[in-house]
Amino acid sequence: MSARSHGQSTRAIHGTHLRDAHGAPHLPVYNTTTFAFPSTADLLDVVEGRKAGALYSRYGLNPTTFALEETMAGIEEAEAAMAFSSGMAAETALFAQYGRDGIICLGDAYGGTLELLADQLPLLGIRTTFLLGDELGRLEDELRGGPKLIFFETPTNPALEIFDISAIAALAHRHGALVAVDNTFASPVNQRPLDLGADLVVYSATKYLGGHSDITAGVVLGSAEKVAALAPWRKNLGTAIAPETAAMLSRSLRTLTVRVKAQNAAAQAVAEAMDADPRVARVLYPGLASFPGHELARAQMNGFGGILTIELAADGATTSRVADRLELFALAPSLGGAESLATQPVTTTHHGLNPAERSRRGITDSMIRLSIGLEDPQDLICDLDQALGEVRA
Ligand SMILES: *Cc1c(COP(=O)(O)O)cnc(C)c1O
Repeated sequence: MSARSHGQSTRAIHGTHLRDAHGAPHLPVYNTTTFAFPSTADLLDVVEGRKAGALYSRYGLNPTTFALEETMAGIEEAEAAMAFSSGMAAETALFAQYGRDGIICLGDAYGGTLELLADQLPLLGIRTTFLLGDELGRLEDELRGGPKLIFFETPTNPALEIFDISAIAALAHRHGALVAVDNTFASPVNQRPLDLGADLVVYSATKYLGGHSDITAGVVLGSAEKVAALAPWRKNLGTAIAPETAAMLSRSLRTLTVRVKAQNAAAQAVAEAMDADPRVARVLYPGLASFPGHELARAQMNGFGGILTIELAADGATTSRVADRLELFALAPSLGGAESLATQPVTTTHHGLNPAERSRRGITDSMIRLSIGLEDPQDLICDLDQALGEVRA
């Protein structure tokens, strides 16, 4: 019975062969830093890579971490997965290993990613070229210049712009470049970049994979060879996931598919209600037929996700008052949890950008990004309706 023949929900629950000697249904937490060996020869087998095995938790060589990585690889149907202490830690290893000949970052990216690429990595000689969606015509020229890693999110934050993973991967591969996709917004339930030709996928597991706003973690997936090359970075930067966090993340993965599917349906309902509300000027959600990226999203995604951005028919100050008046939506700059969150990007995720740069990225003062949780969708719509009372229709 091959795990590959099972559906994604089954793989998420039965995705590891690692079992406990007492018959526990899930591998207990190996909350230990080190592991003893019967002999020096046995220890050397693991140290020198002849045998897989637990050795030292900071190396990521811990059974709880192995179980998580095996399950993640199964969910994504990737050859290998590697777990990190955060999404940013995962990206740091990825950029350090594969970005040394230059990185091209497409579209908007997570604020921390933009800072890492623009401010810290140049200090180490790693340079990034930034191309927005309307500058993709320059991508091939940039590839001729030699950069070897293309990195992007799709859908992007907060405008939900959709990039064509297959087309970008085909172009990159013609020029010998690699493609890494930050699939945090979509999750493996809604999008499978490796199937579309991407070489590597990175997640902030802090969001949908964790799903309860209670753990910080990251994961990189891809071929066994490409993922293994990240191991020395994780080991010596000290960015392995903690065993307790790995166990919590494994627990979260068992409900990933049901959570994401419920959030997709709720986000669609909220998007449609907001689209019909005259106090809302524009709704950015890939699941709306009127959304510019809708057709592409339909072609490359299995679901449209739990994030939408509404642009109010109001100024920035009124938009802040609407955000403040929300009761069920907590005002917090994260996403992917069981509870719904709202954030006005100009005050949080994109606060650091100057107004010219924001407008170049299509981010306005009137936008509120919503991360739809697992509450009853009708309650969320009612909450938005009462908060929109601040807007004169
Ligand atoms: C949150 C986030 C990150 C960073 O992840 P952390 O786990 O907070 O380090 C990276 N990319 C995206 C798209 C994110 O939303």
